[in-house]
Amino acid sequence: MPQLPLVSLSGTPRERGRQHGAALSDRIADNVALYSRRLRHDAGLSEADIAERVSLYLDVFTTASPDYRATMEGIAEASGQSLADIAMLNARFEILYSAWSQLSATVDGECTGFGAPASATPDGHVWIGQNWDWFPDVRGALLTWTDDDVKVLAYTEAGIAGAKIGVNSAGIGLCVNGLGCEDDDWKRGGLPFHLRTSRILNSRSLTEAIAIASLDAPSCSANFLIGSATKGIADVESSPVGARRLTPDNGQVLVHANHFTDPEALGIVQHFRSTPVTTFHRAERLDALLNGAKLSTEHVETSLRDHEGGELAVCRHPVETKPEHLRTHTALSVLIDLEERTLRYTDGPPCESEFTTVALSEVA
Ligand SMILES: [Zn+2]
Repeated sequence: MPQLPLVSLSGTPRERGRQHGAALSDRIADNVALYSRRLRHDAGLSEADIAERVSLYLDVFTTASPDYRATMEGIAEASGQSLADIAMLNARFEILYSAWSQLSATVDGECTGFGAPASATPDGHVWIGQNWDWFPDVRGALLTWTDDDVKVLAYTEAGIAGAKIGVNSAGIGLCVNGLGCEDDDWKRGGLPFHLRTSRILNSRSLTEAIAIASLDAPSCSANFLIGSATKGIADVESSPVGARRLTPDNGQVLVHANHFTDPEALGIVQHFRSTPVTTFHRAERLDALLNGAKLSTEHVETSLRDHEGGELAVCRHPVETKPEHLRTHTALSVLIDLEERTLRYTDGPPCESEFTTVALSEVA
């Protein structure tokens, strides 16, 4: 079965970046080529447009976190890429989503996630998980590092310093969904998505993680599904004009896809990047599957492999009749046990392989 490379990072931020860049240089080159192509051709941005956006976010990263900037410099040095191209990867969330919002583009994204409180699981552990649906040719990796005695194991796209889906030794875990609304705009220069996710993954408590997800308005909307081994599940829908927190109903599994559950509460008009709009179907379907039967690891995995609705189902496959640049698939499927600090995953659609388990305690 396909397995992701696992890279252990240690030392200064620059040294960690160099370790990331050296270990994943081929994958980073592929991702630079992928996003360069997509920003130019799919999002319709000129060289000057991209340079302007990358320059702004390089400044944002530098101001918000000199350590993040140093990590990007290390990745660039060791992978043989320019700092501008590594900054492009790290700001790709803001640049791409902002361009898509303006184009009303219609990729067949994106993700379906869940958070199961202890009352809903057979072992009384808190679980989170998701299918991360994205471009079939994106190249990923698992990273592990320790900051201030908090050890993290998480997934990233090769070349992106801030991992986004994972678990830490304090029992905090994170899954994510893309969201969209009319207020999304790269020019806001808000705290970048990938810096925010890496900070959430470094959190020591659910309260700290929620604060990082909620504060400092982002440029572009996103959903943060956060789990704590001891405090349960909290979900933060984040937009440039405000954030809204959700918790599981009556101890049930909370499911989230790619729509704000109450846009009027935030005073926003939401965009959808998928035609036909599948986010409502995927959320309702996974909710019915996970809340409609006794949970088990096997049942969750079967649910993440669900194909009801065809290619645009919970387990996503490219729609072959669509232009190639609009096709997506489930690039990563994940189930995290926050008590055990284990991450089970498939690299690619979960219907095509068995899950691999990585335990935080067993990675160097
Ligand atoms: Zn499938």
